[in-house]
Amino acid sequence: MHRTHTCGELNMHHVGNKVTLCGWVQRSRDLGGMTFIDLRDRYGITQLVFNMETNPGLCKEARKLGREFVIQITGMVAERSNKNLKIPTGEIEIITETIVVLNPSEVPPFTIEDDTDGGEELRMKYRYIDLRRNVMKKSLQLRHQMAQEVRYYLSSKNFIEIETPVLIKSTPEGARDFVVPSRMNPGQFYALPQSPQTFKQLLMVAGFDRYFQIVKCFRDEDLRADRQPEFTQIDCEMAFVEQKDILVTFEGLIKHILKTIKKRDKSYFKSLQYRIEKPFTILSYDEAMNTYGNDKPDIRFKMKIKDLTGIAKGKGFVVFDNVNYIGAINAKHCANYSNKELNELTEFVTKPQIGAKVLAWIKFNEDGTYKSPLEKFYSKQDLKKWGKVLSAKKGDLLLILAGDISKTLVALSELRLEMGNRLGLRKKDTFAPLWVLNFPLLEWNNEDKRFYAKHHPFTSPRTEDIPLLDSDPAKVRANAYDLVINGIEIGGGSIRIHNKTLQQKMFKTLGFSEKQAEEQFGFLMNAFHYGAPPHGGIAFGFDRLVALFAGLDSIRDVIAFPKNNAGRDIMIDTPAIVEEKLLKELSLKIEQSK
Ligand code: ASP
Repeated sequence: MHRTHTCGELNMHHVGNKVTLCGWVQRSRDLGGMTFIDLRDRYGITQLVFNMETNPGLCKEARKLGREFVIQITGMVAERSNKNLKIPTGEIEIITETIVVLNPSEVPPFTIEDDTDGGEELRMKYRYIDLRRNVMKKSLQLRHQMAQEVRYYLSSKNFIEIETPVLIKSTPEGARDFVVPSRMNPGQFYALPQSPQTFKQLLMVAGFDRYFQIVKCFRDEDLRADRQPEFTQIDCEMAFVEQKDILVTFEGLIKHILKTIKKRDKSYFKSLQYRIEKPFTILSYDEAMNTYGNDKPDIRFKMKIKDLTGIAKGKGFVVFDNVNYIGAINAKHCANYSNKELNELTEFVTKPQIGAKVLAWIKFNEDGTYKSPLEKFYSKQDLKKWGKVLSAKKGDLLLILAGDISKTLVALSELRLEMGNRLGLRKKDTFAPLWVLNFPLLEWNNEDKRFYAKHHPFTSPRTEDIPLLDSDPAKVRANAYDLVINGIEIGGGSIRIHNKTLQQKMFKTLGFSEKQAEEQFGFLMNAFHYGAPPHGGIAFGFDRLVALFAGLDSIRDVIAFPKNNAGRDIMIDTPAIVEEKLLKELSLKIEQSK
């Protein structure tokens, strides 16, 4: 070993010991006759001290060390006179005796601090330097711990981790596939898995009744802060279960990581709207849409949407009379909002991405009076009724939007989240999980004039809805569930179809010809001939889960080597052109773009 200790472990117990440390020069300070160097490694920072009077040769050597030089030192642990109690090594320093430069460094392109001066592109290009920063180190450590806890919990419940192949054929998650040309089979391609969906179902047929895998998935989609072309899932499947068994098992997983990683105990959970010992909140898809305007509601705060259509329509106010939906939220204690603040909110809801026409409001003033641009059209009695629906108290502000029902609900959801932000109700250290159930099975696509599976084609309809597959497919509800935490979809899954006839019917409803279904998924339907048990599963977005626990908005910050928004790895500079020779071997020709 090059070292006796790490830079994060020495303390008062080691005073008087002779030690050898290795690490990177974080910074160096010359103070008159003394030079101090902060030596950094993965574990922490230790202060080295050099004295011009007692050891001028070594002190001069130390003054030549630049930032990020890798050095090895020996020295004596001593108590510091000027202690820094904020770090574990802050009570000691090393009276340095020897320095060996293991490797010099060029001046790094940005500072290695939590608040770095490096922009994201620069940080990505020099990711190995970026990863030296504390925040990045912490994210990756957290990621590792979470993976450990996931493995521990699932193994304790008899799940086994089984790897599934990466070179496969198209999977059914509904995104575009990444494909890989086959040299040995000219003109043919593998697809990279969008998820191990079909394999985990085959593992159930094989009898491994509890499977999981922390696994890379690949989807060729446009990227956003919470999307990467390759991302990691905690992928799970169980046989001989119903929906409620899955919910209980995986609530257990989330509670386990909250307890072990976030050290949340019973008293913490009691202080929230839910209790850890109780099941998570459950909402149906319809309830989620009607009360939060969103199929992934943030329930860290209430501010539920209420429907005012029945009482606000038909009173002669043309704007409201001409719409099919009027909805409102109650922003508590906001009656004192200024015109400027109300204008800001109007601007917010009328921007094209949100698309509301106008924002109406009612102030329920502290002195019992009302103030609203609607006063001209509605009596005080009317407004009072609205207030009642929204449980408005003195000091509250009702915010009202009207229009086409689905668009208005979405706009109300955005407004609700914005108000949640403004009022500080979306605290990063609060975790409010819930299940959303009973999604529609199918989604109509107006362009293609056909139904698509909302989840994937192996999702089972709810048994009582199966007859609707023939009469009114749009009404069929899926036996599916999403796990949502703080407004983020963290996981989703379903009870699967395990019966060949129903699976064929599903493919038919989705517009697959028998031949197409056979070509693409014949292997799975064949497996259903050989004793497929009832089964279901779920997959969690591991990157999102880690980002949520780390309190970070972008999943890029919890991935060691992520791609940028254009899907490029700018450090290794890929995707890249391949040599003509390789293209030939793969029987591929690139068409020159004109
Ligand atoms: N394979 C699904 C997905 O990736 C999850 C599941 O149904 O288990 O979304």
